[in-house]
Amino acid sequence: MSFERALVVFAHPDDAEFGSAGTVATWTAAGTEVTYVCVTDGSAGSNEPGAVREELATIREAEQRAACDVLGVKECVFLGWLDGEVEPTLALRKAITRQVRRVRPDVLMAPDPVRWWDEGRQYINHPDHRNVGQACMAVVNPDAPTRPQFAELLDEGFEPFEIPNLWIPAWEGDADTFVDISGAIDKKIEALRCHKSQIRDEPVDEWIRERAKQRGEPHGYEYAESYRTFRLTDEARAEAEEEG
Ligand SMILES: [Zn+2]
Repeated sequence: MSFERALVVFAHPDDAEFGSAGTVATWTAAGTEVTYVCVTDGSAGSNEPGAVREELATIREAEQRAACDVLGVKECVFLGWLDGEVEPTLALRKAITRQVRRVRPDVLMAPDPVRWWDEGRQYINHPDHRNVGQACMAVVNPDAPTRPQFAELLDEGFEPFEIPNLWIPAWEGDADTFVDISGAIDKKIEALRCHKSQIRDEPVDEWIRERAKQRGEPHGYEYAESYRTFRLTDEARAEAEEEG
């Protein structure tokens, strides 16, 4: 699967690295122009007494930009929502729609809107993730392609746009697409390690390799990331058919 332009929308700095950095590194190496949209400021990413939200937000933005440099991501937009307080509001839908209409991506990567917990029931999903996912679903339809929706965006010069492909990182064994990231796993780990305020002594290399191996092995790859994918236009469906 090759795309000219990809837009990756996520809630917190480091979310995209965990979910899809191997795919992104593989795509950028093949010439795909990748834009990141980080919804929150990541300012709740510390439980240290005395941690200051503003300071953490600055640190986390710098960490995210460093990760983007590792992955060859062209641009990272921060929407500035407060970490921990994301709701799928019209304001958020409009902010994401603005980016979609500006970038006009061949594929939108968005968080799972219905994932409440992990398969092993070892943790409850952060509501920011799910709420960003919900907002993205509304952006796909109706917000981005519908002219009367958020008419102010027309005044800003952003014409409607129909997103051809939607990819959702799938953790639950219901993925339909497995991307071979064997050549990009080192970049994924390097990008994750840029999030120094979040990852200290944890054996992140082991976790990442183990999970990527579980996903890859049944499909003949050393390492893989997995997605549930949607082909939303006739062109996208025709292209998918051609590629078999
Ligand atoms: Zn997160």
